[in-house]
Amino acid sequence: MLHLAPGRLEFHEPPSAIMSQIIDISQLLRTGMPVWPGDTEFQPSWMARIEDGGLCNVGSVLMSLHTGTHVDAPLHFQKNGASIADADLSVYIGEARVINALNVKSIEASHIQPFTAGLPPRVLFRTRSLPAERFDPGFSYITPDAARLLVRSGVKLAGIDTPSVDSAHSEAMETHKILGDAGIAILENLNLAGAPPGVYELIALPLKFAGMDGSPVRAVLRTMDAEARHGLP
Ligand SMILES: [Zn+2]
Repeated sequence: MLHLAPGRLEFHEPPSAIMSQIIDISQLLRTGMPVWPGDTEFQPSWMARIEDGGLCNVGSVLMSLHTGTHVDAPLHFQKNGASIADADLSVYIGEARVINALNVKSIEASHIQPFTAGLPPRVLFRTRSLPAERFDPGFSYITPDAARLLVRSGVKLAGIDTPSVDSAHSEAMETHKILGDAGIAILENLNLAGAPPGVYELIALPLKFAGMDGSPVRAVLRTMDAEARHGLP
């Protein structure tokens, strides 16, 4: 806010900006990080290096679009689904609730039920206190029943801190399909270690890959005061 008085120029931060804090909820992309069995390993390399006489450092990365914190496009599980370049970006920015489901292997409708009144359009499930060091097929997932409740609750984005919203053993990818058919965006492999349960502003924008089925994101939560929360979609 800018207040002009004769001979004086003052700038006051609005209260919401002073109170807002950024929590990084992205996994560190690194050599040796866990990937889905059989998927492309994360492989960084250098096209040019200053220490080798290059004018600058130029890095390059070979990776699956589903490594680390990422979003799934409908094309990931629907033959002719929309690609990530066509995603509606508004779902990746806005009010989100982090729901604690620590050590809950299968997230049921009953875990979501207590929050359905006044549930914001984005829901993130916190099932572990730290990201996994290696791929473990015993990770937590969202049951189809819970996915149906999210649909009925008007949610636009569902996120989880494990490699998939479906169980590692699911062949039908039913939760992906229930969410996808309802137009609900899917955000996976979050790192919610530093995000206690509560309501935040989520920002997790995918890259604009033409014709592709997902994208890594840099996901953050911003803390909000009541006033800031009021105006958010
Ligand atoms: Zn994925």
